[in-house]
Amino acid sequence: MRVLYVCTELFPLLKTGGLGDVSGALPPALREAGCDVRVLLPGFPAIRNGVGPSRLEHGAPIPLPALYGPDLASQGVPPSPALIQGTLPDSGLATYVLDVPAFFNRPGNPYHDGRGDNAVRFALFAWAAACLGHGLDPHWQPEVVHCNDWHTGLAPLYLRQMAMPGPPRAATVFTIHNLAYQGTFPPSVFPRLGLPDYLFGIQGIEYWGQVSFMKAGLQSADRITTVSPTYAREILEPEQGCGLDGILRARAGVVSGILNGVDYRVWSPANDGVLAVPYDWDSLEGKANAKAELRLRMGLDVRPDAMLFGVVSRLTEQKGLNLVEAVADELVSMGGQLAVLGAGEPPLEQAFLRAAGRNPGQIAVEIGYDETLAHAIMAGADVILVPSRFEPCGLTQLYGLRYGAVPLVHRVGGLADSVVDVTPQNLDAERATGIAFDEFSTQGLRAALRRAFDLSAHPQVWRQVQQTAMRQRFDWRGPANQYVALYRSLAPHAAPIA
Ligand code: ADP
Repeated sequence: MRVLYVCTELFPLLKTGGLGDVSGALPPALREAGCDVRVLLPGFPAIRNGVGPSRLEHGAPIPLPALYGPDLASQGVPPSPALIQGTLPDSGLATYVLDVPAFFNRPGNPYHDGRGDNAVRFALFAWAAACLGHGLDPHWQPEVVHCNDWHTGLAPLYLRQMAMPGPPRAATVFTIHNLAYQGTFPPSVFPRLGLPDYLFGIQGIEYWGQVSFMKAGLQSADRITTVSPTYAREILEPEQGCGLDGILRARAGVVSGILNGVDYRVWSPANDGVLAVPYDWDSLEGKANAKAELRLRMGLDVRPDAMLFGVVSRLTEQKGLNLVEAVADELVSMGGQLAVLGAGEPPLEQAFLRAAGRNPGQIAVEIGYDETLAHAIMAGADVILVPSRFEPCGLTQLYGLRYGAVPLVHRVGGLADSVVDVTPQNLDAERATGIAFDEFSTQGLRAALRRAFDLSAHPQVWRQVQQTAMRQRFDWRGPANQYVALYRSLAPHAAPIA
């Protein structure tokens, strides 16, 4: 089974959030599950520099059919943009990189639309994916093209268009990592996408007068997946459907949810290079050391008995962190400390910095992106806070489980699918792994925090929850097998899996 995995970020080369972690871990897991996987990435500097030199026989640049004509030339895009081939570090997976410096050789956030050309550059990327699916590389043609998020939404549509009449040569899977980011552009971009006029309509990619790449993926892919079973149900309803629930309901028969996994080679306190003293569920002394180190590093007062709450997150409204900021002072007066690492919406960043200013030694806030500190917080925190308003999957609660940072979560999406609340029944059955609350309000969060403090007053029970959490396994093998079953249902005549 040959699968082309199409994504715009990939850990360790480039990561802005969960998509990077998933893209770094799922393709190797698919290979373990027997797939012949290759990855397609845009040539952002970190990717261009990080992909190893070609070890493939046919490593020469592959010309792409020209899609857009003269106006692309005026932007410095060559008439036959090149796909280069190489290998990924660590996994050694074969990868194609769309090497168009005029579009991708830019520093900073890969999705920043500073030059107003996101529609065209990600359309070109999707076009490259479709060309590969259509047989561009004579040595390797995928049976399935697996696309991820709006940046790749046009690929299933292009594949269908290329194949007309008749079915596309490769089947398509489109995975939604976050329905809130839709790739919506003004109608003026439509003529530049190389699509027939009739597709700018309600049955096509028009969305309230705009062009929506997310809608393109949802309308045209053979299968739609999202990253947890609960989110797959939630997005069929208006509350979480971000305006696309109608389309998703119409296609409900092909929508499913597969919970993300964790790459335990990267996220495990038993072998985490960031920790001076590794630990596991049966050697929790090391966690006390990590807590002391975190306090030192973030300038928190040494109060070994104080509960230490951690946040590692994009600072956006989605993540429910305005609630955390609103109760931060109370958290301190209840006896807790708070360590926040994040970057995002400036007002939220400022609000957290002010909370830290009001509570020196008790609240520490670091604005920025820091992979090492993220590990240190997972290891040092007693509780990891993930009160997201909505959460397609969420990875930090999964990391928290493994590091014995008991997750405190709003019971939605993947958070509902991965954290078992500390009810008396769940505690009796030794199933409880965290604290889940339902009411998305400061009231709801405050009540959940009280439950955390109450629980910690019973060290033995706390230890039980922590150890149960740490013993959970969400490795990628299970999800990879589910994706393979999905691919098989689409390409039943593909070569049997080794
Ligand atoms: P999302 O993709 O919505 O941002 P996820 O929970 O799925 O949320 O994934 C977030 C990933 O990004 C995790 O690996 C988390 O550790 C990481 N992360 C988020 N913010 C930061 C930050 N400021 N510094 C380092 N890592 C971060």
